Amino acid sequence: MQNLSKSVLKQRADARRRALSKGSISVSGSLVRTLRRCGRENCRCAQDPSARHSAHVLTSKVKKKTKVVYVPVDMVKEVGNWVQERRRIKRLLAEMDALAEQMIRSHVGASRAVGRNRARLAATLPTSSRQA
Ligand SMILES: [Zn+2]
Repeated sequence: MQNLSKSVLKQRADARRRALSKGSISVSGSLVRTLRRCGRENCRCAQDPSARHSAHVLTSKVKKKTKVVYVPVDMVKEVGNWVQERRRIKRLLAEMDALAEQMIRSHVGASRAVGRNRARLAATLPTSSRQA
């Protein structure tokens, strides 16, 4: 990001804040389609791997371990939306981080510049006017 004025940065950060407030239910992780055995002994899937049943799971990392939650077929679309929503929130938060960081940096830069200008000004002024 190039150097933007503080008001532009603030506008952009406020836009992210508003977008964050218009959220819905969200969940971290990925929705993954898997194949699994149903567990019934007389089902074809017990013998034939290609006859395994399609199922959806929500996978996520918890303390470096992969957590897997089975998602019922009639919830797949809904959970997919939750996953998308969490990605949107994460993206907005990352953008907010970048903007906030830039606001902090530009503020530090601005106050240093003011300090430098004051010092330069003081050095060029005659002693008598410095006291006034
Ligand atoms: Zn089966």
